[in-house]
Amino acid sequence: MMPNSSILLYYYFLNYYKIFYTKLFFTYYFTGFILIKIPKTLDPEIILAKNVSVRFKSEYQTNPELKVRFIDPLTGSVWGYLVIDNTLRGRSIGGIRIASNLTLTEVSQLAYTMTLKNSAAGIPFGGGKAGLIADPLLLDKEPQLRVDLISVFAQALFSFDNYICAPDIGTNENDTQQIYELNSRLIGKALHSRGGTGRKQQYGGIPIDEWSLTAHGLIAAITEFASSNNDINIKGANVVIQGYGNVGAATATKLEKNGAKIVGASDINAGLWEPTGLNIKELNSIRNQVGGLNNYTGKIEKFFDSSQLNWLLEAPCDILVPAARANVITSRNADRIQCKIILQGSNAPINKMTEYYLIKKRGIVSLSDFIVNSGGVIGCALEIAMQTDEVLKKVVLAADVRSYTENLIKKIISNNIREVINQINQKNKTGTFFREEAIYLAKKRLQNIDFNYLTNNS
Ligand code: NAD
Repeated sequence: MMPNSSILLYYYFLNYYKIFYTKLFFTYYFTGFILIKIPKTLDPEIILAKNVSVRFKSEYQTNPELKVRFIDPLTGSVWGYLVIDNTLRGRSIGGIRIASNLTLTEVSQLAYTMTLKNSAAGIPFGGGKAGLIADPLLLDKEPQLRVDLISVFAQALFSFDNYICAPDIGTNENDTQQIYELNSRLIGKALHSRGGTGRKQQYGGIPIDEWSLTAHGLIAAITEFASSNNDINIKGANVVIQGYGNVGAATATKLEKNGAKIVGASDINAGLWEPTGLNIKELNSIRNQVGGLNNYTGKIEKFFDSSQLNWLLEAPCDILVPAARANVITSRNADRIQCKIILQGSNAPINKMTEYYLIKKRGIVSLSDFIVNSGGVIGCALEIAMQTDEVLKKVVLAADVRSYTENLIKKIISNNIREVINQINQKNKTGTFFREEAIYLAKKRLQNIDFNYLTNNS
């Protein structure tokens, strides 16, 4: 099958040289030289998990309930994936990722992480993830192309009512609002719990990125961890952020407010390293510009171009925050990582074996993704519940939606950090470590469902 990304790249190339550009029909784009087409429909092709035979299963190959790829029926190109990992706790929830090199393996890994995350957070949802294979930078430049592509994907996803979407890399609250409205039309109801989520407050949503809810949870996690660990102190810490997007930028800003210094930051364009500290105000103002961190004008000691982005992960620092793609710290670079603690803003940046190696051989603690970055999905769960539960809605509105959500996130994540640390302390002679105990906690809750979490906001 032909990868659709080549079509988009071709489109991008031609668009660069375009003489004029006119949208002809719903899905057709004319660049002056060639007619470019995004699919009018996407056909789901179900790949049964039980058909996948492997000799040795990795931690991510836990037989998801459903794996689907989405195909343009006219060209045979694969445009996206959906993986519903587990619905024991309820319908699955997870973001839609847009990336030109997205694979089914990455989406499966992320869906599994969502199962653990939602279970550990105690929310009544299972784990799932979806993704579109497209260039997010191109879609940012061509808003109508983006709207059309999201619309086609949302229609294809609609038949999978066990999946609720949220924002992820490459998508935002406008995309999930578009999907919510499309679902409204298809269901015939203005208010529903079918998703999308993480939408703007004016439309009844809880805007997880605008309110920096994931970063809020990350700060709660590291604060709680530091309170029982003398080696970790946010005040005075040197911090490196890999992936200066919604999660990375908000985490940097909050860590700086708490007395840390941001010595390194990267996005898809560039990596910056300055041991005396980067200018956060400037980083925040340029991050959404074309070229992103390439536009930084402040002092820097080292600059990494787009082919060297992962080098920044090896910079000396106290707190390293991966906040971009999966599998960035592996056996290839584990020996060169030079931080005290890894605060996992992104999903699946490190696997279990590497986390084990880092703590046992290098003394580097990893605060695992599904425990510490659940702030966003907790916000999404509350948003969905408020669509249909009038009693809860009144309570939340009376308390102020944002502060209610922030308190809930802080409480859930701080409790989970305490619980994992207690488990580690009880078993420390058995060679256990953070992710091992975090998985134990999440799996225990997967079997033992308590749905009172949303009103349990003391
Ligand atoms: P985003 O698209 O806003 O930001 C991603 C950033 O990573 C961008 O700045 C992008 O340029 C950068 N990036 C991409 N590839 C890179 C590379 N190779 N090196 C350096 N930077 C690179 O996405 P986001 O919402 O901030 O999500 C970031 C991560 O956090 C993802 O793994 C996501 O699953 C996870 N996460 C997000 C939320 C949320 O609330 N948005 C919640 C939980 C987890």
